[in-house]
Amino acid sequence: MAFKNIVDLHTHTDNSFDGNHSAMFLCETAYMKGLRAVAFTDHIEMDAFFKGSFEKTAIHSFFEVAKARSAFKGRLIVCSGAELGQPVYNKELSDKLVSTMKYDIIIGSIHNLPDKEDFYYMNFDDESIDYHALLQEYFEWELKLAQWDGFDTLAHLTYPLRYIIGNYNKPVDMKNYAEIIDEILITLIKNEKSLEINTGGLRQPIGETSPNEAILRRYKELGGKLLTIGSDAHFVEHLGAGVDKGYEMALRCGFDSIAVYQNRTPTLIPIE
Ligand SMILES: [Zn+2]
Ligand SMILES: [Zn+2]
Repeated sequence: MAFKNIVDLHTHTDNSFDGNHSAMFLCETAYMKGLRAVAFTDHIEMDAFFKGSFEKTAIHSFFEVAKARSAFKGRLIVCSGAELGQPVYNKELSDKLVSTMKYDIIIGSIHNLPDKEDFYYMNFDDESIDYHALLQEYFEWELKLAQWDGFDTLAHLTYPLRYIIGNYNKPVDMKNYAEIIDEILITLIKNEKSLEINTGGLRQPIGETSPNEAILRRYKELGGKLLTIGSDAHFVEHLGAGVDKGYEMALRCGFDSIAVYQNRTPTLIPIE
């Protein structure tokens, strides 16, 4: 199915430590691909803010995106944003950052548990790692993130599964986490935050979006309305990747619109 309103609200420029291409090049590519809107959401890891010089990243990214936005005016909606990692580990600093920067969209993420490494780097073949307990702890932090007021959309709700299931083939019974996931979804709905469909996993061994269709359907059942979608592209090639698949999934779950954020305010645009 071809969709006319392809948007991508989760992408990384070379201002992210793992990004590769400039905002300008990304905009040119997004425009050539026919995207309607793109948000640049470079990583700002709030639990390593000073150690990782993320203040500089934030400012560089913001101005690069502003430049690109003015260059593509009338051709592409360009949103400035940030992917705040672990903001609830330092709420005071996160609140301050959020109130100083004039972002269009703020993505809330958790990539690591307090004082632990990113799930991306963990070796789940190591039997001393109780990944069930880590997942429980992870979802408890996701709930705290959902309760925080400083973000707009909750990114890749099932992030650790990319690695636990996708890369290490470990069994996970999601029934064990159904209750806390419900709580997270209900909190998002109550606080009028979006749930992100992150299509990055479609390009990875796990082969599915985060969250997957079962969780998206549950979100709808519970009364969820606000959805964003993002490729999590770190290269121009991946801009908009999997958004069509995400749209098809959203339609199957009963959603008919997707949110685009400007000045931290969602506008719902029809998927079809
Ligand atoms: Zn992320
Ligand atoms: Zn990301």
